[in-house]
Amino acid sequence: MPEHWIDLRSDTVTRPTPGMRAAMQAAEVGDDVFGEDPTVNRLQERVAELLGKEAALFVPSGTMSNQICIRAHTQPGDEMLCEATCHVYNYEAGGPAVLSGVTCRCIEGDHGILDVSQLEGKIRPINDHLVRTRLVSLENTHNRGGGRIFPLEKIEAIADWAHGHGLVMHLDGARLWNASVATGIPLNVWARPFDSVSVCFSKGLGAPVGSALAGSREFVTRCRRIRKLFGGGMRQAGVLAAAALYALEHHVTRLADDHRHARLLAEAIADTPGLRLDPPRVETNLIWIEVDPELGTARDVAATLKAHGILVHTPGPQTLRMCTHLDVTAADAERAADTIRRQVPRRVRVAG
Ligand SMILES: *Cc1c(COP(=O)(O)O)cnc(C)c1O
Repeated sequence: MPEHWIDLRSDTVTRPTPGMRAAMQAAEVGDDVFGEDPTVNRLQERVAELLGKEAALFVPSGTMSNQICIRAHTQPGDEMLCEATCHVYNYEAGGPAVLSGVTCRCIEGDHGILDVSQLEGKIRPINDHLVRTRLVSLENTHNRGGGRIFPLEKIEAIADWAHGHGLVMHLDGARLWNASVATGIPLNVWARPFDSVSVCFSKGLGAPVGSALAGSREFVTRCRRIRKLFGGGMRQAGVLAAAALYALEHHVTRLADDHRHARLLAEAIADTPGLRLDPPRVETNLIWIEVDPELGTARDVAATLKAHGILVHTPGPQTLRMCTHLDVTAADAERAADTIRRQVPRRVRVAG
């Protein structure tokens, strides 16, 4: 077995760096349920400032962050419009239904991207038989969409339409940092069309734990109460907030490296018969791949790569996902690309 694993399964596998651990060690703390943790307060102010919102709230996970926002925006019996492959609907254990009594109306996007024309006509009329359409939730970058960046003009058109009809807009921005670094468009511009925004520190930014939500002061006050209800009120959480603050300072601009490494892997995949990039263009740090059955299953290809020290995620029978992050160096990316080029085609010769 290889001594050095290259773990491309997820950008959540990163470990806190020595600098981050030192920041955590040195963190000033207090009881955050009393609002007395100075490091948490500093993080919340920083996030609100970066996203151009009045206030922000530190929460344990991205799932809790999204679900608190949904709960705060809705009443039981409301409906949310979202893209069919989005995280909020598919990968949060039925949160909108379980935690808020909200139904999801899913609309098929192009790798996660919706056009306002697909939403027009989807608002239910006021009628005793019908759910009440209340919320539009978008995701940027889009995970299942292959790390795609939601074009700003499409977001703005959707927000104009939604707000014009009295709906509220939520953004699942788990990887909004990646969208900002890849485009040069500041976070506050990406966040402006939304009433609430959720961001994660534990993905590409490399913090061990934590997400934040942001919005108006009144909205965040309501979210604070729901955070307590959902069991997310934390005490001396400054230790964790210090990691997130450190990540904001040191690990945002370097996401450009992850994007470069992802393109390197994408080139190797594009050159390998039997593997197909889907979407064909890799915009950020996620690479989704369809495996031709002639080559085998996704698990077969994953096993071949694993034998050479490379771990990848197999979300479907013929689907692979690779993800670059803080703990994947340029040398790792080159070695992984080289292994894909050499070993994946060999699989066919061995199997055939
Ligand atoms: C990871 C992720 C989340 C939240 O995940 P947690 O594991 O709960 O922190 C939300 N949205 C997207 C798009 C994600 O990739």
